[in-house]
Amino acid sequence: MSNSKSFFIVLVLQLTCMWTWGQSNGALWNNQGWKDSVEMWLSQMTIEEKVGQMTQINLDVVCEGEIYKLIEPHHIDPNKLRKAIVDWHVGSVLNCGGHAYTRDHWHQLIGAIQQEVQSQSRLKIPVLYGIDAIHGANYVLGSTLFPQQLGQAATFNPSLVRNAASITAYETRAAGMPWNFSPVLDVGRNPLWSRFFETYGEDPYVCSTMGRAAVEGYQGVFGKGNIDDEHVAACMKHFLGYSGARSGKDRTPAILSDIELREIYRPSFQAAIDAGAASVMINSGEINGIPVHANPKILVELLRDEMGFKGMAVTDWEDIIKLEKNHRVANDLKEAVYLAVMAGIDMCMVPNDFDFTRLLIELVKEGKISSERINESVRRILYMKYQLGIMTHPLGKLDYPNFGCDDFQKTALKTALSSITLLKNEKNVFPLKAGGRLYVAGPAASSMSMLNGAWTRTWQGTDPQWDDNSKNTLLEALTTWNGPQTKTDKSWEGGHWNPKSINKKEIKKAEVIVLCLGETPSTEKPGDIDDLTLDHEQLEFVHFVQELRKEGKPMVLVLAENRPRLIAQIEPFFDAIWMMYQPGDYGADALVKLMSGEVYPSGRLPFTYPKHPHTLLTYDHKYTETLDPQFGNNAYQPQWPFGHGLSYATFQYSNLNLEKKINGNGNWEIEVSMKIKNDSAHEAEETTLLYVQDRVASVTPHVKRLKRFQKLTYSPKEEKEIKFYLNQKDFEFIGKDAMPVFEPGEFRIMVGGQELNILLP
Ligand code: BGC
Repeated sequence: MSNSKSFFIVLVLQLTCMWTWGQSNGALWNNQGWKDSVEMWLSQMTIEEKVGQMTQINLDVVCEGEIYKLIEPHHIDPNKLRKAIVDWHVGSVLNCGGHAYTRDHWHQLIGAIQQEVQSQSRLKIPVLYGIDAIHGANYVLGSTLFPQQLGQAATFNPSLVRNAASITAYETRAAGMPWNFSPVLDVGRNPLWSRFFETYGEDPYVCSTMGRAAVEGYQGVFGKGNIDDEHVAACMKHFLGYSGARSGKDRTPAILSDIELREIYRPSFQAAIDAGAASVMINSGEINGIPVHANPKILVELLRDEMGFKGMAVTDWEDIIKLEKNHRVANDLKEAVYLAVMAGIDMCMVPNDFDFTRLLIELVKEGKISSERINESVRRILYMKYQLGIMTHPLGKLDYPNFGCDDFQKTALKTALSSITLLKNEKNVFPLKAGGRLYVAGPAASSMSMLNGAWTRTWQGTDPQWDDNSKNTLLEALTTWNGPQTKTDKSWEGGHWNPKSINKKEIKKAEVIVLCLGETPSTEKPGDIDDLTLDHEQLEFVHFVQELRKEGKPMVLVLAENRPRLIAQIEPFFDAIWMMYQPGDYGADALVKLMSGEVYPSGRLPFTYPKHPHTLLTYDHKYTETLDPQFGNNAYQPQWPFGHGLSYATFQYSNLNLEKKINGNGNWEIEVSMKIKNDSAHEAEETTLLYVQDRVASVTPHVKRLKRFQKLTYSPKEEKEIKFYLNQKDFEFIGKDAMPVFEPGEFRIMVGGQELNILLP
């Protein structure tokens, strides 16, 4: 479809929708005009229409072909669409039928859905379209792809996260979609978890800071009122404790104490709620034997009464069905629908049939669920449609001229540059001069998928037909920079190692060997693993190369992986190691700029890189976890600690000082000041991490907790004075009754290798 035709659809839709209520700015949940409009709708709607609003279906349901086997290219099937919109009054549609589309194709598909609503439905309430745009508008071809969330966290720079979210919002909205199932606010405590790369890492404070920035970026500065047509509604997910699965496998049981839930898993969601997140998606798993989709204590008492969330709650994929089929807490689907609705969900991501809709209508007609309960959810859904302006502009505005522009791409490059982390640099291998003989090989050397990760143009992100070939793989970027002296071989063609194709001569001749390893992208169930160790084939490959390499020739490891795969047995062979995370389309270009020293590396690990398969400790472990079999305190021996990351510059910390002050509200606060100096003759960035250690507490204290961080740029030889302010909240913990408590006593403040104790209050 031509541009002009898709714009015509947008225009016609907007004109037909203009008769509905205009929007005005106002406090996020307090827009009286919208509230009045919503009540007016509620007074006119039948129960079928209301339950329809609570129904979310998969795009496949209204397309030609079968679900998961659509006819290519994907088109709307008018009969199926009529059934969904007119017979079942569906309020929301999601997903992409299996792969990304051009903006035009999106407009064609969503335009047809909204057109059907306007021309055929009684109430003409536009459909709310939802998508997973989790590291850029990854289902829109030509969009800008950023590092995955884990890599974004490694920047320790919330403004980059905010910018990435804001560009993602713009490019998602440009394809007619106003609702994004992002950010993931699950805390990555277990590196086995198949969705580890989707988190902001292991620390609740980092997850909160980055989560807040992402919500602000997605929803825009209008976050306290309407969300304009260059922004999207954020959906914080997956509430709550999804990443805490004991086995690390997706959607398996979590056993979490109230203290842990509140201390570790809750803060990131609270931060996003405070930033105005418009919606939430529920954890598909169970906590302490109760599926979260059937738990009103979490969905109402905690989420709404205690945390003050006012937005809309959507289930995750088929999760009501799973209450019956997988969790087995319901005898049949009808009981499952009853449990989930009474537990507090507002919208059901059904998504492949109308059973939820039919059964919920029955439950209301039988008097088992009150219409007031239904109104409560429909109110939230319609309010969100007003917030987004889709009641009048279902497809957003007419033009998004900045889609895919240079500035957006530069921001993606900048984010990758700030994220990629230099873990090891012995013999000062880097920075490296171009022109030397390089041997570059390994599964990640020629793979765009491994740079981008899952949720890239397809769900698992592994189909190379969707790669943007104008972007550089590692081998391409290294060759462009280093020239014809860059050699490779076919030892990893087809994704597997073939020792027969290895170029032994080149390995022997190489001045520097660069092995690009990691993990094939995956997420959710397909990403479950039984062993965190890097896979056997890659380990064998490294041993093979190690045997061939000439004494003294530097060997470099570049890692592109979903989670920290264990490399203890090969780590000593490497002189330098780079952690790429999954840096997106510009990752390879960024790595070259860092390797060459054009930009000094500044990424830091947002998690603890483990060394041993059964010692998966986080940096904020308990004291007893450091006790070793010799009765010493050396049991915590990660490969690299949380916050680790090298630069070519060194930074000197001095003059740490603590001063207790009374602030404007009459409360005490601690001013923590220090001096930090860039000792190098090059501009460089430094992340300062401030930890608090509670010396003694009535609930066993963590060895330390991160309370503040700041990343700043330092000119050559520049010294800055940095100040942080801590208040009572920063010294609280979750007490025996699962409520926050401050216990007076001694605390230690630790920053940049310096530490001081203080008695508080
Ligand atoms: C995932 C969600 C995602 C949803 C829609 C689910 O399987 O758990 O994170 O938003 O699918 O694609």
